[in-house]
Amino acid sequence: MTSTRIVVVGAGYAGVTAANRIRARAGSDVTVTMVNPIPEFVERIRLHQHAAGADPATRPLAEMLHRDVEVIVGSADAIGDREVVLADGTVVAFDRLGYAVGSGPGGGVPGVEHAHTVSSLDGSIGLRDALDRARPGAVVTVIGGGLTGIETAAEIAERRPGLVVRLLSSGVLAPGLSGGGRDAALRSLDRLGVDVREHTAVTRIEPGELTVAGGGTALCDVAVWAGRFVVPDLARRSGLPVDEQGRLRTDETLTVVGRPDVVGVGDAVAPPERVAHHLRMSCQAAIPLGVHGADTVLARLTGREPKPLSIGMTLQCVSLGRADGVVQVVRRDDSPRQLVLRGRGGAWVKERICRGTVGLIAKYAGFHRGMPGPKPQSERVGVSA
Ligand SMILES: Cc1cc2nc3c(=O)[nH]c(=O)nc-3n(C[C@H](O)[C@H](O)[C@H](O)COP(=O)(O)OP(=O)(O)OC[C@H]3O[C@@H](n4cnc5c(N)ncnc54)[C@H](O)[C@@H]3O)c2cc1C
Repeated sequence: MTSTRIVVVGAGYAGVTAANRIRARAGSDVTVTMVNPIPEFVERIRLHQHAAGADPATRPLAEMLHRDVEVIVGSADAIGDREVVLADGTVVAFDRLGYAVGSGPGGGVPGVEHAHTVSSLDGSIGLRDALDRARPGAVVTVIGGGLTGIETAAEIAERRPGLVVRLLSSGVLAPGLSGGGRDAALRSLDRLGVDVREHTAVTRIEPGELTVAGGGTALCDVAVWAGRFVVPDLARRSGLPVDEQGRLRTDETLTVVGRPDVVGVGDAVAPPERVAHHLRMSCQAAIPLGVHGADTVLARLTGREPKPLSIGMTLQCVSLGRADGVVQVVRRDDSPRQLVLRGRGGAWVKERICRGTVGLIAKYAGFHRGMPGPKPQSERVGVSA
C-alpha cells in the first residue's frame, strides 16, 4: 500500500497544530513530515521576555510534536510540483503540503537594519546582548506602539531599571484597545518609568540617532523596531498566488486556488476577506487556522467536502512586565468591548494563556476549535459582497 505524504513547512503555532492534528487523526497510510530550520519550537509570544532577560523561549520540537511526525531540519527554498526544495538542495516529495512559515520582523523606515527586534529568535538574542552591553543610563527606544512594542518596552523597563526606556508610536498607543484598556496600559507604562511619546513617527534610524517626522532627532543607544510583521517570500518565489503583503492566497477552506494539494495556515496566509477580515497576525488566530487547515486536509483524505473558515477572536492580552497586564475582551470580529481586566489579574490571565497555548497545540492538538467567527461579510446587513 502506498502512503499519502503530508509535509508541513514551518513549526510555529499553526504548523505544529496542523501536523499534530493530522497525525493524530489520519490513518496509518498517511505520513506526516515537518520541515523547520531548527529542531526547536520558538515560543514567539515570549520573545520580548527572553530579550529582556528571561529564560530561553524555545522547546525541543520533539516535546511539541506527535511522536510519529518526522522532522527534517532545513529551510524550504522553493515549492514546486509535489516537491519542496530545501536550501541545502534536499528534495522532499509530498502529496499534500501545509504552508505555515509564519512572519518575522518587517521593514518600513530607512536604516531599520540598525534596530533590534523581538520578532524572531535571532532578533531577541541580539537585543538581549545589546541590553547586556548597554551602560547605565543608556537610552533604549522601542519604535512601534502596538501590543508587541508595549510589551517589549514594559519588560525591558521592569528587568533593566538602570536603562532609560522610550516608546514611540506614530499614532495613538494600542489603537485596537478600548479607551479603558489604553488608559490602563498608559498608566502601567508610566509606573514602570517608560517615556511614551504618541504621534511620533520615526522616519530614519541611524546608529545612535533617530529622526522623527518633522525633522527632529533623538539620541538612542539601543533601537528596537516593533513595527508590523512581514511574511517570508517563499510563496511568491515559488509562483504561488499571494496578496500585496506576500501572504499565500487561499480560498475559504484554506486551500490554495488552483493547487488543491496546498493548504495554508497561520500568519503567512491570506484567506478571503469575507471570512478573515478580522484576523490579525496572532497566535490566537494561528492555532485555530492550524486546526482548520488540518481538518481541510483530513476531509479531502476521506473524500468529504472541507468546511469554510469561521474563527472568532476573544481577547487582546498585553503583558506589562511580570506583575501587570491588560486583558481586553473583544467581539468575535476583534473590536473591543468595554470589559477590561487590568493589574495583577491581567498579568495572571495572560501568563495562564501563554502556558496553556503550548499544552493546547502539543502532541495531538485535538481539542481546540475556538469560537465561531463573525458572520461572513456579505451576510451582514448593509454590507455588500
Ligand atoms: C514578542 C511577541 C509577542 C507576541 N505576543 C502575542 C500574544 O500575546 N498573543 C498572540 O496571539 N500573538 C502574539 N504574538 C504574535 C504571534 O507570535 C504570531 O502571530 C504567531 O507566532 C504566528 O504563528 P505561525 O505559526 O503562523 O508562525 P510562527 O510562529 O512565526 O512560526 C513559523 C515557523 O516557520 C518557520 N519557517 C519560516 N520560513 C521557513 C522556511 N522557508 N522553511 C521552513 N520553515 C520556515 C519558522 O522558523 C517558524 O518556526 C507575539 C509576537 C511577538 C514577536
